[in-house]
Amino acid sequence: MPLNPRLQLLFLFTVLVTGITAFAQQSFSTDPFVEQDDNRTPTWEETIDAFYSLAKACEYAHLMQVGQSDVGRPIHAFVLTLSAIDSLNLSGLQAMRQTSERLGLLINNAIHPGEPCGVDASVNWIRELIAHPGRMHSVLSTMDITVIPMYNIGGALNRNCCTRTNQNGPEMYGFRGNARNLDLNRDFIKMDSRNARSFVELFHSFSPDVLIDTHTSNGADYPYEMTLISTQPDKAGPALGVFIRDKMEPTLFASMLRRGIPTSPYVYLKGETPEDGIVGFLETPRYSTGYAVLFGCIGFTAEAHMLKPFATRVKATKAFIESIVEFMQMHSSDIKTVCAAEADRLRNVQSLPVRWERTAKSSPLSFEGFESKKEISSVTGELRLRYDRTRKWSKEIPFYNYYKSSAESLIPEFWVIPQAWRHVVDRLQCNGVTMRPVESDTTILLRTGKIYGFTSLPNPYEGHHVNKLDSVEWLVSLVQLFAGDWVIPSDQRNLRYLCEVLDPRGHDSFFAWNFFDSAMQQKEYFSGYVFEDTAAELLASDSLLRISFEYAKSSTPGLRENPQSQLDWLYRASPHYERTSNRYPVFMSVSNRK
Ligand SMILES: [Zn+2]
Repeated sequence: MPLNPRLQLLFLFTVLVTGITAFAQQSFSTDPFVEQDDNRTPTWEETIDAFYSLAKACEYAHLMQVGQSDVGRPIHAFVLTLSAIDSLNLSGLQAMRQTSERLGLLINNAIHPGEPCGVDASVNWIRELIAHPGRMHSVLSTMDITVIPMYNIGGALNRNCCTRTNQNGPEMYGFRGNARNLDLNRDFIKMDSRNARSFVELFHSFSPDVLIDTHTSNGADYPYEMTLISTQPDKAGPALGVFIRDKMEPTLFASMLRRGIPTSPYVYLKGETPEDGIVGFLETPRYSTGYAVLFGCIGFTAEAHMLKPFATRVKATKAFIESIVEFMQMHSSDIKTVCAAEADRLRNVQSLPVRWERTAKSSPLSFEGFESKKEISSVTGELRLRYDRTRKWSKEIPFYNYYKSSAESLIPEFWVIPQAWRHVVDRLQCNGVTMRPVESDTTILLRTGKIYGFTSLPNPYEGHHVNKLDSVEWLVSLVQLFAGDWVIPSDQRNLRYLCEVLDPRGHDSFFAWNFFDSAMQQKEYFSGYVFEDTAAELLASDSLLRISFEYAKSSTPGLRENPQSQLDWLYRASPHYERTSNRYPVFMSVSNRK
C-alpha cells in the first residue's frame, strides 16, 4: 500500500536526519580506546571496527568470523602470523597452524565484559607492534597470535554504568552474564552457549600453547595492580607443572617488576585479609585455563586489581601480554620441550587424576599489603573491615598452592557411549575426539558403572542442578549395543579431556553437569497387592531367596517392621526389577590401556 504524500515526506526527512547523524558520529568520533587517563572502554561495534582497521593496516594481520554467539552476532578472531592464510575461516586457520612450527598464543578478552582491560590492552599492544615492524617480525618469527576481541558479545551489548559494584571504572562497560545470563567462564565443558562452541572450535583449530584470559579482580585491597592465576602446577602434571612453578611464574613476576608493575599470585584469601595467607585457585575444566590444560596448553588468568584506575589496569594488562610474549620468545624451545614431554607422558600413562584436593602444605610468599582494622559501621552498627592505603606492610605470608589427586581414573582401552547420548557425543566431536561407530548390532562384555546415590544442587547453578556423586561400583556385564553407537579409543591426544569428562567423579564431568540425569531414574514399579502373590510364589520356589530374605529381615534395621520395604526388597531381588536403573551409560572395555 503506497504511503500518503505527507508520510512520504516525513519518511524522507527521517532518513536524511538519521543519515547525517550517522555520518557525523562516524566522522567525528574520537578514538574510544584508553590511552593516558581515560576512563572509557569501547563498545562491541567500536572494538570490531578497530580490529578491522588493524587488519587492514598490516599484511600479517587477519580478522575473521569464527562462529556465533548467543546474542546472534558473530565472534571474531584477529590473527597475526607470518604465514599466509588461504581462507579467512577456521579451516584456513587450522591449515596454517598445521604447517606452522611456531608457538601459538591465544588471548581471550571480555569473557566478563565488565572487566574489559584486555580489550583496550590488546588494541594498544597490537597498534604498537604494527608500528614497529622489526619488533613485530621478531615476535612473529616465534609465535602465531590469535586475539578474541570480545568473547561475551551479549554481555558487552548489555552496557551499563554500575554492575561492577566494587570496581573503579570505566564509566560504561558490559555485563557479566551473556545473552542467556550464563557466566561463560564456567561453560567450557558443558557448552550451553554458542559462544563456548565457537571458542572450542577456534581453540582446536588454532591449537595454542599458551592462553591468556583477561579479567579484573574481586576481593581484597592491596597495592598490586596485577595478579595472576596460573594453570595450577600440580594439576598441570609433572612436565608442565614444574615448568610453570619453577620457571615460568618466577620469570613472569620478574618481568612485570622490571616493567614497574609488581605482580602477585591472585589474592584468593584464606582468612579475611591477606595476612592469613592466600590460596592457589583450583581452576577446574569449567574455567578457560582449566579447560586449556586438558589439551596441554598453559593458561593464565590475568586479574588486574579492581580498585586501581581503569587506565592503570589496562597498562598492567598490556605489560602482562608483553611479559608472556617475551617469555615465549626467549623460551620457545623450552615450551616445545615440556609440551612434547606432556604429550609423551599421556601416551604412556595407565591412569590419570580426575579430582583434586588442596593439601596443608604452603610456601612462603613475599607480599605487600595494606594495614587493615575493624571499626564500627555507620550502616549496620556492627564491626566492619577497612583497609588503610597510607599504611603498607611487607612480609612473608603462606601461599597454599599444593594439590593432590583425590580420585584416579584407570584408563580403559576404549570407552563406549550409545548414540542416544547425542548431546555428549556432539561435545566430544566438537573437541576433536576420535571415535568410530559400531558397525552392526551386537552384545559384548563391558565394564558398567552402578551409581550409588548422588545429590543435586537444589537451586540452579549456571543453568544446572549440579550433581555430586556418592559412589560408583564397576561390574563386568553384557551390554547390548546398536549399529551407530560410538567406540572411543583411549589412545588419542584428547585422553585427559576424555578422562575428566567421562569419569563421573570428575569435578566437571558430564555426569556432574546433568547430561546423564535421565539414566538416574527407575522407570518401572509394582503394585503391592498384586506383587504379594508374585513374591509368595518366588519365595516358595527359591530356597536361596528364602534364606537371603530371612537374613535381611534379621540384619537390616527396620525391615521386619515395614511390609512395604519387605516387598521392595523382594522386588529388587526378583527378575522383575530393571537392571539398568542408575546404570552409568558410558561403558569401559574390560581390559585397561597397556
Ligand atoms: Zn572475571
